[in-house]
Amino acid sequence: MATIGFIGLGNMGGPMAANLVRAGHAVRGYDLVAPLCDAAAAHGVTIVADAVAAAAGSEAVITMLPSGAAVRALYDDPAGILTAQNDCLMIDCSTIDVDTARYAHAAAERAGKQAIDAPVSGGVGGAVAARLTFMAGGTAQAFDRARPLFEVMGARVVHCGDAGAGQAAKICNNMILGISMIGVSEAFALADRLGLARQALFDVASTSSGQCWSLTSYCPVPGPVPESPANHGYAPGFAAALMLKDLLLSQAAAAQTGAETELGAHAARMYQAFADAGHGGEDFSAIFRMIASGHRG
Ligand code: NAD
Repeated sequence: MATIGFIGLGNMGGPMAANLVRAGHAVRGYDLVAPLCDAAAAHGVTIVADAVAAAAGSEAVITMLPSGAAVRALYDDPAGILTAQNDCLMIDCSTIDVDTARYAHAAAERAGKQAIDAPVSGGVGGAVAARLTFMAGGTAQAFDRARPLFEVMGARVVHCGDAGAGQAAKICNNMILGISMIGVSEAFALADRLGLARQALFDVASTSSGQCWSLTSYCPVPGPVPESPANHGYAPGFAAALMLKDLLLSQAAAAQTGAETELGAHAARMYQAFADAGHGGEDFSAIFRMIASGHRG
């Protein structure tokens, strides 16, 4: 069993750290928010004074932070987490831009350490149930070292390629998700106007060529999929603000690389309007309500 530093004990990091403890690892945790530290301590995480203390003496350090800027700040600090012991494995599970992920890999390498970018999908429910999917970027050797930890916190682990490949996979996947959720929502909005029963559309499309995860697992209208957020007041789940964050990351990457992502750009604009209208805290499938109302926001 290993000693693991865990920085960022929020909605995702808190339960991920708890699952590492449950598997028998010693977890040294830190978050800027004291009540989150208290909650993690209740799950057996040893709370330490700061990020450097979390990294000190750890065989692996996991960061689960809100943004690329937060990750960069930790990797940039000359007296920071990279002062951990030499063979410490640096794992960043935050969803951030590919450039910052590669920057973190390079900084770790300069400090003589292996690194992995490993964003996740599966949401808070997946984090609690240890059912996350990890998409990892880094060398095969670093991936082999990280895999046993991912297997404790998740159900599926994919080595996507070299540094930054995990983040690339994440933003491409979530661009598909944002676009498909809007597509499914538009279909239900049109069905409503045509007088077609929602269940009838679901029964046809879920077994026809319109089938997709946004329809069959996460249906944006109440009824057909009992566990979808639509049946629970659109409580997240996966918040619209986080979908917007991921779509903006995909659009920044598209602009940088010259990729044509017309629908991704449009999806980003729609989620921006939805968030601007005060719905960022709702589940991302609640965009159905904006679409069905015929209003932008
Ligand atoms: P969150 O805001 O709940 O947690 C992030 C935590 O990081 C906060 O508690 C914050 O206090 C802490 N933090 C920020 N800077 C810090 C620092 N310098 N030192 C210590 N702690 C610091 O966010 P979350 O929902 O847990 O998401 C974390 C990451 O996972 C994000 O990048 C998000 O995009 C990604 N993600 C989230 C979900 C989801 O459904 N919530 C799903 C997949 C991926």
